[in-house]
Amino acid sequence: VNLIDKTLSFPHSPSFPSVKMLLNHERKRILVTGGAGFVGSHLVDRLMLMGHEVIVLDNFFTGSKRNVQHWLGHPHFELIRHDVVDPFMIEVDQIYHLACPASPPHYQYNPIKTVKTSVMGTINMLGLAKRTKARFLLTSTSEVYGDPEEHPQKETYWGHVNPIGPRACYDEGKRVAETLTYSYMQQDEVDVRVARIFNTFGPRMNENDGRVVSNFIMQALRGDELTIYGDGQQTRSFQYIHDLVDGLILLMNRNYKEPVNLGNPEEFTIREFAEMIRSEINADVEIMSLPPTEDDPQRRRPDIGRAQRYLGWNPKFSVYQGIRETVQYFKKTKSEQAWYTD
Ligand code: NAD
Ligand code: UDP
Repeated sequence: VNLIDKTLSFPHSPSFPSVKMLLNHERKRILVTGGAGFVGSHLVDRLMLMGHEVIVLDNFFTGSKRNVQHWLGHPHFELIRHDVVDPFMIEVDQIYHLACPASPPHYQYNPIKTVKTSVMGTINMLGLAKRTKARFLLTSTSEVYGDPEEHPQKETYWGHVNPIGPRACYDEGKRVAETLTYSYMQQDEVDVRVARIFNTFGPRMNENDGRVVSNFIMQALRGDELTIYGDGQQTRSFQYIHDLVDGLILLMNRNYKEPVNLGNPEEFTIREFAEMIRSEINADVEIMSLPPTEDDPQRRRPDIGRAQRYLGWNPKFSVYQGIRETVQYFKKTKSEQAWYTD
């Protein structure tokens, strides 16, 4: 009864992908580090609906219990406050290793901690994978390409990263995490997967997270100016969260071990993106320019040939569709907050 109740009360959005329940023998014990964050909580939803047993480890630095509260009390779900910088013992079949702040203001808040999270956290989770023979998936990032000199970016590109700049704690941390992942594969035969994720957005992004999608949507909803850093000619390619979750689960369960880009190749300049948000939400708001941020990558678009070929994966959501759903979410949380503070 509990299981059915929980599944029925799950807060689906209109476009939530249909999920096939697995047979008993197909169910696994799955660890999701960073599972209370934006991406992690959507991954948890999908794994839970498939019928897996899911254990979330999170230190709640940027994530929150609220993101997974609909699963609390479900017999297949466990939420554990734990920092991945410290070792953790458990028996599992698969590990999705997401724990790491992802937004520039958050990962730059305590750069040493960000490096420790990527390096020590990944060593701990790879050690766990080695001991339990669990399959291990690292959520790496397009930031390993830095400010790229190749466009669009293929997985074979080695990148162009400033090792001592303000983004280095995140970019180099993820590069070492990839190195560790393949070292454990070669030396200890750990079964690994690496996803290089490009800018992703959707409901449950933290509204104060500082990333461009949440900043522009919140500014437009409040009637404030949209803040462009620099001239706005830099580009990004935005993918909707449900597409990313499809790709992560496919990658984990297919037999392809090289890094795979997961992103939507629809590319916007940040100025075009600001104009799009303005026309979608509030035509009256102004767009203002602020100084550029240091080492901001100037162009970013994934080459998704590998994901298409080896995973049969393609993004299904247009950016517009994703933005509309995300705006609905932010409107709803904004009205709930107004209700709490009134
Ligand atoms: P997020 O900040 O919402 O989630 C990260 C989660 O990890 C949070 O719940 C946070 O509390 C937790 N965490 C951080 N440090 C931890 C630690 N030391 N121990 C335990 N938990 C810790 O970010 P997100 O957007 O959901 O990103 C998830 C993963 O995907 C990250 O690894 C990120 O690098 C990667 N990624 C995300 C994007 C994107 O656009 N969202 C792009 C590229 C890569
Ligand atoms: N950006 C912006 N205004 C904002 C937030 C971000 O112009 O309020 C720009 C930022 O300089 C970058 C792009 O938007 O060029 C994407 O930034 P974000 O922090 O979302 O992610 P990044 O890809 O840089 O990690």
